[in-house]
Amino acid sequence: MARMYDTIVIGAGWSGVVAARDLSKAGHSVLVLEARDRLGGRARTYTDGMHVPVDLGCSFIHGYKEGNPARDIAKEFGVTANVCQPTEGQVWKSNSMPEPLATKLRENLGAARASAQSLAQSANPPPASETPLSDVLFSAQSPLFADIPDKDLAVSFARILEVPLGVILEKTSLRWDGWENNYAGSDAAPEGGFQNLIGKIVDAAKKDGTEVKLGEAVKRIEKSENGVKVETDKGSGYVAKTVICTIPLGVLKTNAKTLFEPSLPARRLETIQGTHVGILEKLVLAYPYAWWPDASKVGAFTLLPSERRQGEPQNAKSVFRQNTFILASFAAPTLPRQHPTVLFYISETPALALEKFSPEEVAKAGHEFLVERFGVSSAPERTGSVLTNWRTDPLALGATTTPSIIGEGRGPIDFAELGKPLWGGSLCFAGEHTEPNHRGSVAGAVISGTREAERVQKYLRKLSEA
Ligand SMILES: Cc1cc2nc3c(=O)[nH]c(=O)nc-3n(C[C@H](O)[C@H](O)[C@H](O)COP(=O)(O)OP(=O)(O)OC[C@H]3O[C@@H](n4cnc5c(N)ncnc54)[C@H](O)[C@@H]3O)c2cc1C
Repeated sequence: MARMYDTIVIGAGWSGVVAARDLSKAGHSVLVLEARDRLGGRARTYTDGMHVPVDLGCSFIHGYKEGNPARDIAKEFGVTANVCQPTEGQVWKSNSMPEPLATKLRENLGAARASAQSLAQSANPPPASETPLSDVLFSAQSPLFADIPDKDLAVSFARILEVPLGVILEKTSLRWDGWENNYAGSDAAPEGGFQNLIGKIVDAAKKDGTEVKLGEAVKRIEKSENGVKVETDKGSGYVAKTVICTIPLGVLKTNAKTLFEPSLPARRLETIQGTHVGILEKLVLAYPYAWWPDASKVGAFTLLPSERRQGEPQNAKSVFRQNTFILASFAAPTLPRQHPTVLFYISETPALALEKFSPEEVAKAGHEFLVERFGVSSAPERTGSVLTNWRTDPLALGATTTPSIIGEGRGPIDFAELGKPLWGGSLCFAGEHTEPNHRGSVAGAVISGTREAERVQKYLRKLSEA
């Protein structure tokens, strides 16, 4: 007869490993089933051809000094998290932008966003669900355009917001802009990358008896008389009193209808389909030495379009020329270990346009674009490069959930709905998409894992007392 676990945790990303660790520490029997052949999920640390490990998914503990629970976890496992030091930023269009104009653009965008958030909170009646953030940011009276006659320039600069949002401004809901009470302020990067830290949490869970099976995708989750039955693509069946499902929302959108028996309630299925999963990709280019301008002091370049979009871009380099990018440079002293590597943050519009090209074409185009943009006569060959594909990765199908998008009935309560237990408490849900205030972050995943581990413990206590 199959072993009856207290809990099966589906997924070994942040939320799953935190839940498994908490439960095994409290003496419960835990099985973790992970479809990938590695731990971490959207925490993925890459080393091939890199000078130091580079995180392709999460890379910062946001709000490190402001109470992010990942800080305590890093401390507990002896992993140093380096707080980012302020470094210079530069804005480039065809050439480097004079600093007074760059400062004006930054100040105007800050003022425009603050004014949009104030309107979202104070307008009576509140903005309609269909009103996008872009309507106020780009309105004729917007502070975005104060003393900037070139409106296109200000709009293209405002597109940097689409990197953290994960969605274009035209789809982001004005009504809910700024509703989250999340961790913000200082950022810190764990030494060795996020996967290193996850590995240590899993080792601790294993010491307490947790079993981990990699490369085993869950295909069916079925309510049974004594708990829950779980079947995987290996043909294996497992049983437990409870299940914590951390399958990302992008994936649930494709399989939630058939994964569960009995089926999820209609409202849950509607919320899964209606909640948005955003797009954010990274392109990392490593070099033998730092050849770009002011490499020893500039931590981030904002690269604005130098070419107008007209129809479909014919090649990958046009995508770089026609869009706004944030380029992080690891050669600057933001973190203690400087290395000659740059990282493009690629937001929704360019990410979709670049999907038509192979990763090598994109890396080559990104390199040639930088050589052209920075106007250098020669640049070394790349020593390594990597392009992410979170949107098409079948075990992520997107970067993370975004803030609420426009649409009738959509709002922050959706994230709470996605985290509610079912089947009397034996089927629980964790993951960044289930944490209203911290969705889309490591903090959200950690908090949700802790929350569901506590919920399961109460449930198991009740069972044992019955
Ligand atoms: C490009 C990018 C940059 C980011 N940067 C930051 C940042 O700097 N700071 C920050 O706080 N957050 C950041 N995030 C967000 C952060 O990475 C996520 O919120 C967090 O890692 C999500 O953890 P999770 O446990 O919810 O999901 P995941 O990590 O996705 O874990 C879910 C796991 O379930 C597995 N799975 C899926 N289907 C099945 C199945 N059928 N059976 C078994 N297993 C399955 C998946 O393989 C995965 O391992 C970033 C994300 C991206 C994509």
